[in-house]
Amino acid sequence: MTTSTPVHDVLGIGFGPANIALAIALEERYPHLTARFLEARPTPEWQPGMLLDGSDIQNHPSRDLVTLRNPRSRYSWLNYLHEQGRLLRHLNQPVPFPLRKEYAGYIRWAASFFSHQVDCDQRAASIRAVEQYGERLYEVVTERGDRYLGRTLVVAPGRTPYIPEPYDTALGSRVFHLTQYMPRLEQLTADGAPEAVAVIGGSQSAVELALDLHRRFPRTRVVTYSRSHSLRQKDTSPFSEEGYFPEFTRYYFNASVENRRALDRYMQPTNYSSADGDVLEELYTTIYEQELDGDQRVFVRGNHQATKVAVTGDKVRLDFTELITGESTVDSVDFAVLATGFRNLGPGAHEELCPALLKPLHGRLATADDGRLQVGYDYALAPREGETLPPLFLNGLCESSHGIGDAGSFSLLSLRAGTLSDALATRLSAAFADVDAPAPVAA
Ligand SMILES: Cc1cc2nc3c(=O)[nH]c(=O)nc-3n(C[C@H](O)[C@H](O)[C@H](O)COP(=O)(O)OP(=O)(O)OC[C@H]3O[C@@H](n4cnc5c(N)ncnc54)[C@H](O)[C@@H]3O)c2cc1C
Repeated sequence: MTTSTPVHDVLGIGFGPANIALAIALEERYPHLTARFLEARPTPEWQPGMLLDGSDIQNHPSRDLVTLRNPRSRYSWLNYLHEQGRLLRHLNQPVPFPLRKEYAGYIRWAASFFSHQVDCDQRAASIRAVEQYGERLYEVVTERGDRYLGRTLVVAPGRTPYIPEPYDTALGSRVFHLTQYMPRLEQLTADGAPEAVAVIGGSQSAVELALDLHRRFPRTRVVTYSRSHSLRQKDTSPFSEEGYFPEFTRYYFNASVENRRALDRYMQPTNYSSADGDVLEELYTTIYEQELDGDQRVFVRGNHQATKVAVTGDKVRLDFTELITGESTVDSVDFAVLATGFRNLGPGAHEELCPALLKPLHGRLATADDGRLQVGYDYALAPREGETLPPLFLNGLCESSHGIGDAGSFSLLSLRAGTLSDALATRLSAAFADVDAPAPVAA
């Protein structure tokens, strides 16, 4: 038995925006609680694989790590700009949304205040409930073999990339998800521009990737293949955007599973399988100009479903069926980037029942008849009847129970961190009912 392993009130897996926002909420509201976060990367970063030149963020910048919960917090986007000496210059920019690389700087900056609570290069490999020091605790062991103990556990590893068939059969250095884009691109193009690249999907990221590849390699043939008819513009109606209000979260949470799916169908084009007008216009104009010049190198092919993907040497062969005409086509590219999205929690084909890390605990957690995890409004996972587990929470994985505003996005991140910090403090003070827990610090 290792007697020297410290016990943390809150143990967190992942230190992306979700758990950074939680660390801030805990510091601001419950400074008496001890917290430790494990982060797989060498440093906390926000989606580093897609920090493309010129790409902007998709959220109002004040829907940041803190502002909706505590507009006076020092960890706000505006205070970041102020402390960098860039506030006025930033406000003077003739663009509605900040560059993603600048927002990534904000996330890095906010994370840096918590370096004493974060162990980087520590990928959690296993989780189990243990009894130690007379307490029920979570034990997390990392890939490096280090062991951590927590009275509560908050799992925030980000969503699992969705790799559809048949791409899953060829996944590797030449067929990869967009989260790998920047490092793979560097390796694959070290000796020069590729001849042809396929981008798979019809999302914002797919359009950004097509534009980025064309900017970097103007002579390269870049083909975007999507299953839907063509590239759709996002629904940015302010009425639809109210789906990103906390009231919608409550409304959605209380709806039946069937009604949740109906709401999903309505809300989907506000965030998925669609792109902003600016990038669509840029892509369309690029193609139009190339047609005028009689030298088209950028293409969009809708209604295309891959039937086979094979890597041979330094080429990827893609076999497609045109979904309306039934025509078969073949393309050969240097590599294919999958802008195919992420998995939500659920029993559907595009979903996963449980985050991979929690699979060993799945049998001990309460689930619905279809196997989906029962997630509380406070993001807690309940133990199955007859089981006892220390408090366990999900952070950033609850779109299928809490709706679109709870997608892996910034929209309601700060409010969610407030809910989670309250729930953690409540559960911890219940476990130590004889100890007087300090009241939350007003934020
Ligand atoms: C290209 C791209 C652009 C986006 N742009 C926007 C945008 O503009 N606006 C918006 O609102 N949302 C955007 N999103 C959505 C995005 O998911 C959120 O912005 C945000 O990253 C979610 O934060 P998170 O902490 O839940 O997940 P992540 O950012 O994925 O962070 C999870 C962290 O956990 C770590 N981790 C994973 N597994 C382990 C493990 N086993 N052990 C330890 N650490 C682990 C990871 O290294 C990572 O640092 C974008 C997503 C992508 C992919």
